[in-house]
Amino acid sequence: MIIAVDGPAGAGKSTIAKLLAEKLGFLYVDTGAMYRALTLKADNQNMDFSDIPGLVKMAEKTKIVLEKNKKGKTIVFLDGFDVSDAIREPIITNAVYKLARLAEIRQIMVSWQRDYGKKHSIVMEGRDIGTVVFPKAEIKFYLDATAEIRAKRRMIELKEKEIDILLEELIKQIEERDHKDKTRKCGPLKIDDDAIYIDSSALDIPQVVDTMLNYLKDYNEK
Ligand code: C5P
Repeated sequence: MIIAVDGPAGAGKSTIAKLLAEKLGFLYVDTGAMYRALTLKADNQNMDFSDIPGLVKMAEKTKIVLEKNKKGKTIVFLDGFDVSDAIREPIITNAVYKLARLAEIRQIMVSWQRDYGKKHSIVMEGRDIGTVVFPKAEIKFYLDATAEIRAKRRMIELKEKEIDILLEELIKQIEERDHKDKTRKCGPLKIDDDAIYIDSSALDIPQVVDTMLNYLKDYNEK
């Protein structure tokens, strides 16, 4: 079974998709981490982001592995090295769009992502999972929240890391990222016709997971 969870940055997709996967005993796949890892490699190698053949060559020689550790945290290995923290650095967050907008790179990513669905029941989260990667996914969720709520949640995460940033600045960054994700030609973020739309602005995490589980129950009883 394939469950797709799409939506903008900060809507709570990672936490919620992970919890849902745990409850169902499915594999959780964070596709954003894959785009981030490839961006980190390109950045480390000082690649020119307009050199598409060079980037494709690099991607074809790359191995990205997502593994769950004993604490349930997803560890991201890039060519054998743990890059779980490095891919979350703001420099990478702000650069991912340069790779994510390239059709040639997305094609490679999509084929890697489809491989997961061949072997496991999965909860896969990203931007184009229901629209492109698994258009026939049994269940598609689109998880949303207002930019302000998403920025507030992000601010709390950053405070834990002792990073201070103004809420207005975070809202601006989130809106810019939304715009880039929604307007790119290939694999843009959009609400699929058959996706279940959930606005998490006024819901907490268990409420969203319960909402999803209820939809699943209905689906299984059909
Ligand atoms: O989900 P996360 O914020 O970690 O994703 C980082 C970036 O990777 C997104 O802003 C988006 O540009 C890109 N991405 C994508 N397609 C996906 C997952 C992520 O383009 N399926």
